[in-house]
Amino acid sequence: MRLGISRISGFYKLPPNARLESIAEKAELSREEVSWIEQGLEINQANMMVENVIGIFQVPLGIATNFVIDGREVLIPMATEEPSVIAAASNGAKMARGAGGFSTSSTGPIMRAQIQATGVPDPFGARQEILQHKDELIEAANEKDPMLVKFGGGVKDIEASVIESRLGPMLIVQLIVDCRDAMGANAVNTMAETLAPRIEELSNGKVYLRIISNLADKRLARAKAIFKANDIGGADVVNGILQAAALAEVDPYRAATHNKGIMNGATAVVLATGNDTRAVEAGAHAYAAVGGKYRSLTRYEKNGNGNIVGTIEMPVAVGLVGGATRVHPVAKANVKILGVKSADELSRIIAAVGLAQNFAALRALVSEGIQKGHMSLHAKNIAVQAGASCDLVDIISARMAAERRISVDRAVELIRELGDKKN
Ligand code: NAD
Repeated sequence: MRLGISRISGFYKLPPNARLESIAEKAELSREEVSWIEQGLEINQANMMVENVIGIFQVPLGIATNFVIDGREVLIPMATEEPSVIAAASNGAKMARGAGGFSTSSTGPIMRAQIQATGVPDPFGARQEILQHKDELIEAANEKDPMLVKFGGGVKDIEASVIESRLGPMLIVQLIVDCRDAMGANAVNTMAETLAPRIEELSNGKVYLRIISNLADKRLARAKAIFKANDIGGADVVNGILQAAALAEVDPYRAATHNKGIMNGATAVVLATGNDTRAVEAGAHAYAAVGGKYRSLTRYEKNGNGNIVGTIEMPVAVGLVGGATRVHPVAKANVKILGVKSADELSRIIAAVGLAQNFAALRALVSEGIQKGHMSLHAKNIAVQAGASCDLVDIISARMAAERRISVDRAVELIRELGDKKN
């Protein structure tokens, strides 16, 4: 274990190149890996990733500090355009350190693919027919991906159900696939397409859809942390957080914002590792609504010592192979910084980051309010928007934060004032 590496005091005060040097040393990055981060994605690499490429859209990459996850110090690369997200994640992780940080678990990397058979004359009879041919179907699907099978993955089970729709009953066959270190969408879609003709034969129906489900309820990642009352501002803050969490459990208007806060952290790590942000977000929000009502993905309770027990459970379908994960040079360097060895471990880290992010936001919301910290970090953006030159951005944002008047109007005034002084 790399002891204490995520606790870097004064990290935020360093210039970007010194921060990178510090991370390179702690994560044992080679010179080549450092250059991947410095240079970023190149146009010829981008041109191999998507269609009709004309350029590269960049997003800031930062490191959240203070994370201890399952007893291991972890540096968290986060790609995000939003100010205060990385600071808040680091702050949430710091508040969890007092009681040992985050502990995690998961259900494993299992995805579902759906095959939709329509116009089946006897859907319940067809369902049984499919289940009777389960072994044959599993074998045929697994033949399509010997590499996945070699790593211990592949189709593990087949489920079938009759779903009533407004166009009548449909037979839905689901492949339950262990994707190991892949996110798995391409892998399971290929398997579903392979089986479709045989499903048509067995069901006497017509297959249209044959694709992954992003409601990855068999690929759940969980994290838990205890936040000590003394570390977070005392009993009133504890009560405030419990009140806020209780509202998010029952009110979808609040739950949407609560979960957005979780995804501020989760999505930033998903993006930084070259994974599919839309897949993870679709899964998270679908899972939040799985009981028929949209609800928060975290729970907060008070334990016998008056401390907060925070927990999160959400689907996190991410990979270390496949998609862009091994193509994007910065994603590859970020995986090295994280020190993860499996997609499952990455998913659990993402859940822990979601919990830290959510907790930090709740703590700020029920105490000083979210805007104080957020706006002072956003002040630089405001100064740039107002037209401040590079050498004035820091001075103007610091002035606005000190005055607690963070607005474009004030920035314009200060540009005029300081610009005049300079001339
Ligand atoms: P992929 O097909 O590029 O790679 C997966 C393959 O890697 C496996 O099939 C296996 O053959 C091989 N492999 C090698 N080592 C492995 C290991 N240790 N563990 C597991 N597999 C290993 O990618 P993928 O993960 O199947 O698909 C991910 C991509 O699919 C993403 O780019 C995603 O954006 C995209 N996608 C998503 C959706 C969706 O979410 N609805 C739909 C279509 C495509």
